[in-house]
Amino acid sequence: MTTTATSAAGAPVAAPNGHARPQTRAVHITAPEPPGSRPLSVPLYQTSGFAFEDPDAIADAMAGPDGAFVYTRRGNPTTRALESALADLEGGAAAMATASGMGAISSVLLSLLRPGDHVIAQQCLYGGTFSILSDLAERYGVEVTAVTGDDPAEVRAALRRNSRLLYLETIANPTTQVVDLPALLAVGRSAGLIGVVDNSLATPLLCRPIECGADIVVHSTTKYLGGHSDVIGGAAVFADRARHREVWQRAVELGATADPFAAWLTIRGIQTLPLRMRQHCENASFLARRLAAHPAVTAVHWPGLESHPGHRVARRLLSGYGGVLAFDLAGGREAGRRFISSVELASLALSLGGVETLVTHPASTSHRELAPEQLALAGIGAGTVRVGVGIEHPEDLWADFRQALAGL
Ligand SMILES: *Cc1c(COP(=O)(O)O)cnc(C)c1O
Repeated sequence: MTTTATSAAGAPVAAPNGHARPQTRAVHITAPEPPGSRPLSVPLYQTSGFAFEDPDAIADAMAGPDGAFVYTRRGNPTTRALESALADLEGGAAAMATASGMGAISSVLLSLLRPGDHVIAQQCLYGGTFSILSDLAERYGVEVTAVTGDDPAEVRAALRRNSRLLYLETIANPTTQVVDLPALLAVGRSAGLIGVVDNSLATPLLCRPIECGADIVVHSTTKYLGGHSDVIGGAAVFADRARHREVWQRAVELGATADPFAAWLTIRGIQTLPLRMRQHCENASFLARRLAAHPAVTAVHWPGLESHPGHRVARRLLSGYGGVLAFDLAGGREAGRRFISSVELASLALSLGGVETLVTHPASTSHRELAPEQLALAGIGAGTVRVGVGIEHPEDLWADFRQALAGL
């Protein structure tokens, strides 16, 4: 029978044996076995490691990602709960949660590419992805060809004998380009390429790239999956278990895997993703249509608009058009700057996917260093404003935008 002591502060401290001193009993606090009930939320296992009874069991556990938990960099029950949820939602065989979206993207690329390999990548890519591909090209001899993604023939023409990987995004940013994933991935697959799709902006609720032929889906869970601007995280979901194991091994070496608390926050976010995503999409539709009718706005980029070049593809591919939109101001760079300084409800910030509406003007913020031609290549005009539409009441958002537009 175990005895229960009382600490100096009055809280009970479970002692593993009755003879231990307070210094020892304070250290050896254990969790109760739930007696006949279970916690409603996924417990947070905020532990760096796990204790074993049997020395042989440690060696068995170290053999791969699916054994007993040993050390949290390799696996943790809270993180595993997130991984199972993501694999399930994306229709994959296994998932790996990472410390950030870039942790997932870097782990995938560094695991699967070798010097001399060739990558075909969509031209309009997340900035961090563009950076690591440039680094791999410069430092590790990986060849990269950019394609617009508008035509499968373009991918076919880019194929080489050493082509290894095709990298695409479901909804690109800030252009909101939607490429024909099944058609492009089929070209890659027929040539033996690994198809990787960044699904951060669509989320598995709007699109499941594995069903479109992708081998790996990467996410910045910092965005919609977390959804509350309070956590940095990422994930890679794999159609194939062997590939999961290969990339997981590299991610463990790189130290790119997720912290349990971040995983726990992300799980809590995912529980309301369906409700949030519906409102993000509805609000984006509301704002896109009002912006399109405003005289200060020359163009609105949102896949749900019939005028969007990818609308027909988006209608076939997505079960909602997403919460990111961009619009071009007639007044160019100065108008863009003024707009992002004049909004009051929306905040000027570079992220997206949270419950609150965020705006940015790439030409004077994130892309300030780019020459006009480079901006144009990235699909950004001098007066382009990007909006990560939140879940506020849409009329309040429009009132804010209208007053900011009136001051231009
Ligand atoms: C934010 C983002 C990333 C990077 O994710 P982090 O969590 O910031 O590392 C990758 N891809 C897309 C599409 C993103 O929006």
